[in-house]
Amino acid sequence: MIKAVRGTRDLLPPDTALWNFVEEAAREVFRLYNFQEIRTPIIEDLSLFQRSVGEETDIVSKEMFSWPDVSGGVIKSGLKSIGQLDEPAKPGLDGIRRPQTLALRPEATAGIVRAYIEHDLNRTGLLHKLYMMGPMFRRERPQKGRYRQFFQIDAEVIGPPTAGSESPSVDAELLEMLAQYLERIGITGWTLELNSVGCANDRPKYNEALRAALAKDLDKMCEDCRRRAITNPLRVLDCKVPEDQPIIDKLPRMLDYLDESCRQHFQAVQDLLAAVSVPYVINARLVRGLDYYTRTAFEFTHGALGAQNAILGGGRYDGLSESLGGPKAPGIGFAIGEDRLVLALSKTAEEFSAPPDAYLAPLGAGMDREAAQLARELRKQGIVVELGDESFRLKKSLETASKIGARHAVIIGENEVKADAFAVKNLATGEQVTVPRAELASRIQERRP
Ligand code: AMP
Repeated sequence: MIKAVRGTRDLLPPDTALWNFVEEAAREVFRLYNFQEIRTPIIEDLSLFQRSVGEETDIVSKEMFSWPDVSGGVIKSGLKSIGQLDEPAKPGLDGIRRPQTLALRPEATAGIVRAYIEHDLNRTGLLHKLYMMGPMFRRERPQKGRYRQFFQIDAEVIGPPTAGSESPSVDAELLEMLAQYLERIGITGWTLELNSVGCANDRPKYNEALRAALAKDLDKMCEDCRRRAITNPLRVLDCKVPEDQPIIDKLPRMLDYLDESCRQHFQAVQDLLAAVSVPYVINARLVRGLDYYTRTAFEFTHGALGAQNAILGGGRYDGLSESLGGPKAPGIGFAIGEDRLVLALSKTAEEFSAPPDAYLAPLGAGMDREAAQLARELRKQGIVVELGDESFRLKKSLETASKIGARHAVIIGENEVKADAFAVKNLATGEQVTVPRAELASRIQERRP
């Protein structure tokens, strides 16, 4: 038997009702903050993620699903419109055009910023508030709450600085929106962990301090940390190896190295959060697993989730657009892990079950036709109808109607068709009445709980 690939899973009803619930609530809440939906492709050029998420991150160095796109032959146009990204389309030094390497997206921000640049959204001079929902792919070791195909609900605010995109009020509004959203779907007991990871201005000084502090203990640390200390010391803070933790805990804190503007920005975000009563804790070690973050970085964690306790994460990425060859377009965004969000819900799928209003039971030859016509009329009037089959005996029809939880069974036999009035059985009470065709819909609706 062929099974779903390791780390992927099928989402079946009734559980899908929970997924629809969190997605619909996200659309409603994001709408209140004037966000609009964007949909970008699942497949992107691998270099997009190498340049944005970063070569040194676990996501890019270990977890990408990528492959050379040999099927299309040589690449003709590539991603010309976004400046530096068209490199793969050019012939190499040896004059040979190589196939483009494609990747399944491991996260949403890079694709959204690519689209922002590609479609020159900066030209409007306005803030763009965009959201997206969909599957992401990372070749991780599967466990509860961690999959190789998982779903994210993502939102980004991006625009030229003149539109206010750098303002701390954008950060605070986004965090407040998340608090509002979690409240709306009934998730309580979350913790907002907040940090500032600084900017291009203060990061080099901090990296230097980190390298200096790491130098004496480096031989005791894991191989990844030893490499990162040289290539990208900030990533050391992300190390999960238990033996390394006491060393990491004593390292200098980014917060002590922020330059004046980053410090003021971080303070302003905190003041605004206090003003709107969104609680938070400072986590000076929070750096997130992606390289593009600047200034505000955050995660919402939840106790009910065990080891994989981050429901969502995000942060600011003021230099990302430029590093992808785009205009100056600072931004901030987050990604909610939908799989974990659903795990943290206190609601059950049964609470969202929506049984049909009526089961139509055609009785005997020729009645399928009558039932099909009646079903069409009723559905036009908003009645949820499940259709039986004329080959079923009445007993089987009524049993099926009960099994699927229908509120009413409508019996369609020759006599009913002649009289143009149908026997309607209330399956909860057993009460049965004859109802003229014209009154059927209102009669069925009237009994809705
Ligand atoms: P990231 O894109 O790494 O910032 O992750 C944002 C959120 O996506 C995390 O807080 C998780 O809730 C979720 N997430 C990340 N990786 C996975 C995964 N492999 N399986 C399930 N959820 C994930």
